[in-house]
Amino acid sequence: MIVDYHMHLRGPANGREGPVELTVEAVERFVEQAAARGVDEIAFTEHMYYFNELADFPEHPYQRGKVAHDLDTYCDAVVEAKRRGLPVKLGLEVDWLPGRLDELAEQLTPYPWDFLLGSVHIVDGEAVDMDPGLWGLLTVEAVWSRYLAALRELAKSRLVDVLAHPDLPKIFGKRPGPGALASFNEQAATAIASAGTVIEVSTAGLRKPVGELYPSSDLLTRCRALGVPATLASDAHVSQDVGRDFDAAVEHLRWAGYETVTVFDGRVGRQEPLG
Ligand SMILES: [Zn+2]
Ligand SMILES: [Zn+2]
Repeated sequence: MIVDYHMHLRGPANGREGPVELTVEAVERFVEQAAARGVDEIAFTEHMYYFNELADFPEHPYQRGKVAHDLDTYCDAVVEAKRRGLPVKLGLEVDWLPGRLDELAEQLTPYPWDFLLGSVHIVDGEAVDMDPGLWGLLTVEAVWSRYLAALRELAKSRLVDVLAHPDLPKIFGKRPGPGALASFNEQAATAIASAGTVIEVSTAGLRKPVGELYPSSDLLTRCRALGVPATLASDAHVSQDVGRDFDAAVEHLRWAGYETVTVFDGRVGRQEPLG
């Protein structure tokens, strides 16, 4: 089985990110692309900061500027597509929010999620994945170590089922020395394993300055050794990116020793043979 468990529901646009389009027709375009790339099932994981119902949570100006959509409309579009028999799952990309994870968990409870995807994008009020963002405030070593602290807290909270792009700070190719990086990987893998969280192998990094899959071979191997399950992810913001570069992602998983991929239903995960 091949899944793509990370994407954003957008309408068509000429090669660039299209406008948010929360309709079954938009879902169908993503499903068609998945079928063309041999992906059996896809999951939508829209950013939580797009939704009016969750407008109280985002603090970063970029995220606050995106609040404009109805969470019920999003859920209804995906649930309706599912009802029509399309191979889709309902998820949400949830941001790490220090001190507010319990409150957020409560707000998200009424919705029919298949899984929640957790991301650390913002640390100390600045973005890890923007330039200069957090990089303008802290040394490279400090960015990685602050990110690790946030990732560990997010995993430990058990608010989310899967961690997105686990080594996101490599996005611009800035990394600490080999010793510090090995220590990051060891601590991240241990925290993820003890929380019982799943990680994603994401091809999005191939389209970023770093030009690599998330996570690195070293982090993925450590996760595998500790029994951490995995999903596959494109982080598509246009339907054309669904399942993009998945040969590389599947090979990455196999190389690290993975023989299964995680499939979610109603926030319960199970393992299916990979491929
Ligand atoms: Zn993300
Ligand atoms: Zn995403």
